[in-house]
Amino acid sequence: MSATDRPVVFRNGLVLTMDDAHTVLPGADVLVIGGRIAQVGVGLTAPDDALEIDATGGILMPGMVDTHRHLWQTAMRGYGADWTLTQYFVWYYLESGKLFRPEDVYAGNLLGAIEAIDAGVTTTVDWSHGLQTPEHADAAVDALEAVDGRFVLGYGNIQQGPWEWATSPEFRDFHRRRVDGGKLAGFQLAFDVTGDPAFPERAAFEVARELGVAVTTHAGVWGATNDDGIRLMHENGFMTPSTVYVHAATLTHDSYNRIAATGGSVSVSTESEQSAGQGYPPTWQLRHHDIPVSLSMDTSVWWSGDLFSAMRSTLGADRSREHLEAHAKQETITHCHLRAEQVVEWATRGGARALGMDATIGALTPGRQADVVLIKNDASPAMFPILNPHGHVVFQAQRADVHTVLVGGRVVKRDGRLVGVDLAAARTRVAATIDHLRETMGEEAWQRGMNPDVPETAILENPYQYTEWDAGSAQWKH
Ligand SMILES: [Zn+2]
Repeated sequence: MSATDRPVVFRNGLVLTMDDAHTVLPGADVLVIGGRIAQVGVGLTAPDDALEIDATGGILMPGMVDTHRHLWQTAMRGYGADWTLTQYFVWYYLESGKLFRPEDVYAGNLLGAIEAIDAGVTTTVDWSHGLQTPEHADAAVDALEAVDGRFVLGYGNIQQGPWEWATSPEFRDFHRRRVDGGKLAGFQLAFDVTGDPAFPERAAFEVARELGVAVTTHAGVWGATNDDGIRLMHENGFMTPSTVYVHAATLTHDSYNRIAATGGSVSVSTESEQSAGQGYPPTWQLRHHDIPVSLSMDTSVWWSGDLFSAMRSTLGADRSREHLEAHAKQETITHCHLRAEQVVEWATRGGARALGMDATIGALTPGRQADVVLIKNDASPAMFPILNPHGHVVFQAQRADVHTVLVGGRVVKRDGRLVGVDLAAARTRVAATIDHLRETMGEEAWQRGMNPDVPETAILENPYQYTEWDAGSAQWKH
């Protein structure tokens, strides 16, 4: 019997089903048979051979879904912590991105894929825009297939126009070899639309249409993509319900209307939008246009692949904006529109819907694939009391509280430890990539890339800065 065939039963957890009614079941069990959710309820009968996991004091929720991660960049974890988007573009697009060999893409993807399942992110879109050659693309998929998670490959290549790589025989050959009948959970075309009136991206959209796959595109990115790209896509009939608009942060009402009318969704990367400068995280706008939302972490060159962080920052950014908009009108917000429950939905069902996988993942309901996360940490003072379950997931829990993870019924993390993962081997591969980059770039360029200049701050004149206190008159002398 393989690991996926053995039934699993979680006992006595607080279950966030994320079903249509967002049913929460205290003291409930989740029974997994044949890789799928068989039953959710109190005091379930399980087969004799079932692996029993005590969920007492913990929260059971569906595996989370990240709809936009540049996994290959995980090899550079944290390097760009102080970057802006401009510095990111210069480093990856212009200067150093081409230094990445197939084995470097493999190393980043492997570490990023492991990182995802460790954090309870059971499905990830690998927005893989470092695929300079078919060898790079093979390496990316090899790494994803080496990890027991669900991975959708968003195929991209920042070294060429999408009208070039998407129409090449090598790309077709790759698609035949690795996508049809392969282990990938899905496939997308990943490219951006510059707004060039000649609309050269048409050829890539036509390939996507012919293959019947979705397009994922960085849209509404300050200084890079704007309303023109959305308009061109719309006028040419390439906006579909499967289209994923990443960021969508600097768009006008007109573009949001076009997205809403054609049924697409937005992948919000709040931490990215806040630090890099794509625009204000747009959920406060998307709510008004009734546009479906999923969440994403973008890249570990700044942040880690952790959707707790995404949920927390997204809720905070939305509320921050709502308060500030009101203050500007001398008003006070007494009730927040965006609720913790909604961002948990975005991190699970929202992602599943965006990827056209809502029938199979995103909720703990019978028949769906058993992608299950148990958040439990008896040693953590922040894990009790659990009074507001969705709020607890968003504002209290963190990746270190991810106790057990199932993907399709297979145990990939148990008691806080990854199962069947050779982390040491992944570490060795990443170290070799760092050595290669550091040697090729040279130490000076390596350090300069990580430590961008700080612009001078102009200190404003402050009328309250006094220099002397006169005790006699009890006043400051000016
Ligand atoms: Zn991105």
